[in-house]
Amino acid sequence: MKTIGLIGGMSWESSLEYYRIINETTKQQLGGFHSAKSILYSVDFEEVERLQHQGQWGELTKIMVRAAQSLEGAGAELVVICTNTMHKMAEDVQASIQIPLLHIVDATAMQIQLQNFHTVGLLGTKFTMEQEFYKGRLSEKFGLTVLIPADDEREIVHRVIYDELCLGQIKEPSRAEFIRIINNLVKRGAQGIVLGCTEIPLLVKQKDVSVPIFDTTTIHARQAVEEALKV
Ligand code: GLU
Repeated sequence: MKTIGLIGGMSWESSLEYYRIINETTKQQLGGFHSAKSILYSVDFEEVERLQHQGQWGELTKIMVRAAQSLEGAGAELVVICTNTMHKMAEDVQASIQIPLLHIVDATAMQIQLQNFHTVGLLGTKFTMEQEFYKGRLSEKFGLTVLIPADDEREIVHRVIYDELCLGQIKEPSRAEFIRIINNLVKRGAQGIVLGCTEIPLLVKQKDVSVPIFDTTTIHARQAVEEALKV
């Protein structure tokens, strides 16, 4: 079994989910008392959130590179960044280490392709919904059409992520808003919905949605175990 390096704390609410899922999946695969070998490098999200909203992506890249190199130095054999948004600098992070970085978009796209879907809706932070690092990878590398919510809906999704979900607050009115926004994407032709923020699965579950959801937290965490258990 390889040792999984986790870059977490963005927010720790979703890092907890990664930790739970990688251990549950390892136990399902191997049985008994088996659990995942892992190392967690957890950042202070206050600092990360401030730099994101100031557009200081160069500083954020340095933080992510430092985290990945620390994990490699500590013995990690693969790395996962436990947030969609911070995949904005995934290529710089990969270039700074010798071990593989498992990209959350690639893991998610493979699941979408297994369903033979060509059009998906995407929910995430405004950075994730609006910038090319995420949508562009889904469309250019995997040939998918990506629909994003309207301007005012993107504001709502972004606000709920930072003001509620990353603070551990799960609120019914926000769930209703997310379901309304998802239904609009489905009306526009989305065959599935990418929950492209690692906290959204805490709010929206498959039972809330009429089309398949792609829970990036679960998909990414399970892929980390699959890679860790490859011989
Ligand atoms: N965890 C979220 C994501 O998957 C948002 C927090 C962050 O900005 O990293 O994008």
